[in-house]
Amino acid sequence: MRATRLVTALAVALAASLEPHRTGQQATFLVRDVRVFDGERVAERQDVLVENGVITRVGATGFSVPRGTTVIDGRGRTLLPGLIDAHVHVSDSAAADLGQALSLGVTTVLDMFSGAARFERIKALRSADPPDIAAVRTAGVGATAPGGHPSQMGGPPFPTITDSGEAVAFVNARIAEGSDYIKIIYDDLSSLGMSVPMLDRRTLAGLIAAAHARGKVAVVHILSEEQARVAVEAGADGLVHLFTGESVSPDFARLVASRGAFVIPTLSVLSASCGQPSGAKIANDSLLRPYIRPSLRRMMSMTMRARGGATSCEATREAIRQLARHGVPILAGTDAPGLGQTYGASLHGELELLVGAGLTPAQALAAATRAPARAFGITDRGRIAPGLRADLVLVDGDPTTDILGTRRIAMVWKRGVLAKRATYE
Ligand SMILES: [Zn+2]
Repeated sequence: MRATRLVTALAVALAASLEPHRTGQQATFLVRDVRVFDGERVAERQDVLVENGVITRVGATGFSVPRGTTVIDGRGRTLLPGLIDAHVHVSDSAAADLGQALSLGVTTVLDMFSGAARFERIKALRSADPPDIAAVRTAGVGATAPGGHPSQMGGPPFPTITDSGEAVAFVNARIAEGSDYIKIIYDDLSSLGMSVPMLDRRTLAGLIAAAHARGKVAVVHILSEEQARVAVEAGADGLVHLFTGESVSPDFARLVASRGAFVIPTLSVLSASCGQPSGAKIANDSLLRPYIRPSLRRMMSMTMRARGGATSCEATREAIRQLARHGVPILAGTDAPGLGQTYGASLHGELELLVGAGLTPAQALAAATRAPARAFGITDRGRIAPGLRADLVLVDGDPTTDILGTRRIAMVWKRGVLAKRATYE
């Protein structure tokens, strides 16, 4: 007990000394008599104490706190770890994107491809980590073949890789530039009725091995079951999409589980490509809409229809049920800001879709908190426990029984600082 206290005290002191934006404003407070989802389990009638931006105590309600501590009434409410969107693409308006995410309870986002000026902007925000926008981690430039996805989408040129002999140098260059993890594209877009160059298996395996040699997580973009299987067999730590289609092989999840990989299904984007777009519904949800920048709302109602290939989401949902049965970590990610997705708001839609695919609300909440923090080795967040960052979301009601409840946001804190939550109407 004493050791735990000491560790907590050290964590607080450390966090306070590292805190460049400490205002004291709301950085110390108590949420009293609240239901807590700690990233894994639900506990009723808890008190949660935050000091200098760090969670310092969690326990049965009624413990005494320093005189003058701000007390927030948690009755009828649920306290969640700040949500994590494990698949986004931060745009050139990075600060605005991350601000919108934070307003909607998403306190950390994982960017899955950025280069040139945008990468520099993201890195600056990553190290400054200001309290009024979501924290960000980035893959930087992903590994793809010359002319491979996503170069068909335009934008400034970026380095590519043609041969497995270049894998070590490619990965070292990314790490030197500041990539937090290595993203690899293993997809010729045939599932979307297109055909672009893609890496061969040896290069894929070489990149993953090179990432692991440097202690980095390697994640792979795939859009078909075949690509997913190859990526997992090549040693991928995680898949950053799933796939659509009529059916999935009965042994798919067993393979993924046997390799210890995680999966970010990105149902928000996949369901649009198989004819079940959810973006307009999210954009028109009165609990979410006011926080979505008007310039982004328009894109929410647009859909992309696959030119060929799959038009069924059955394989996606069945794969998720299989993965859950096999205990494969599932991570919530939106692929915002594509057609039909946006920062923050779409993560609430993703949680609803994950529950629709068969996860329990608690499993879905874990997919947006503990699971991504763990999968990406971000050890200071994703749970509500002493010593962790006070990235927190307080919602009215109980999202552990009704996942739509994540949208009833009362307050959001990043490192204990209360978010202002800008609205646009
Ligand atoms: Zn993406």
